[in-house]
Amino acid sequence: MKEKCFVMIKPGFLNYENEIVERLNKIGTITKRFQIKLTDEILNKHYEEHIGKPFFAELVNYMKSDEVVGFEVEGEEGLVKNIRECVGATKNPAPGTIRHDFGIGDVTKNVIHASDSPENGIKECQRMFDYVEMLNK
Ligand code: UDP
Ligand code: MG
Repeated sequence: MKEKCFVMIKPGFLNYENEIVERLNKIGTITKRFQIKLTDEILNKHYEEHIGKPFFAELVNYMKSDEVVGFEVEGEEGLVKNIRECVGATKNPAPGTIRHDFGIGDVTKNVIHASDSPENGIKECQRMFDYVEMLNK
């Protein structure tokens, strides 16, 4: 079964887009891209599972502070797992991962988002690219 993954370069790290794309291209195919500044409304949906957690306000304030770049990446079974491995852990990412290699050792400002399951990959790509399309109408 084909999979989709939503990947997003977080504020302050857009200068690494080429390097990040080079790594993603080894795993799957980038089929869509946007560059935009997100709002509270869409971030509340995107990070819904984290509402009420102690880091939520800091996370949303950071994520809306500047432009992000979003990608839809498509590939074969295992795509989401492979992208998550390439992205690295939320805390203490290992050398060789995007979060380690381009990061600044900050748990919130951790370079990049990637969907955590094939189900969420489909959901997040749909939501984010529908949102951007709606804005462009
Ligand atoms: N985050 C944070 N503090 C934490 C945990 C997470 O600031 O203790 C931020 C971080 O930017 C992370 C995002 O919240 O990427 C979403 O958290 P999640 O647990 O889903 O991590 P991810 O799936 O991004 O690795
Ligand atoms: Mg997550």
